[in-house]
Amino acid sequence: MDIEELMCPMCKRVYANQDDLIPRLLPECGHTFCTKCLNELLQKDPDQPFLDPIDGVECQRKSCAENYPRNFALIRLAEKHEAKIAEEAQKREIEELER
Ligand SMILES: [Zn+2]
Ligand SMILES: [Zn+2]
Repeated sequence: MDIEELMCPMCKRVYANQDDLIPRLLPECGHTFCTKCLNELLQKDPDQPFLDPIDGVECQRKSCAENYPRNFALIRLAEKHEAKIAEEAQKREIEELER
């Protein structure tokens, strides 16, 4: 299990079932972003078609990220792997310090 799969592709934070970190699904293409990044994407060029930055698929534009479905599968996975995620985060911190 690679915790990269539980991270938002834009900000690289691990998803969780709270506020900004809730994963939101784009139903048209199946990609997921955290609530914060999706809101930022929606605020950019509001008059243009809304394109997924990963694959360029045109998705329905809603007024805010909270109107997109939560990706419950990812929330459950993140909760299940909480211990491993914390361990991994600590390891990364140590690596940064040693650099
Ligand atoms: Zn994000
Ligand atoms: Zn996509």
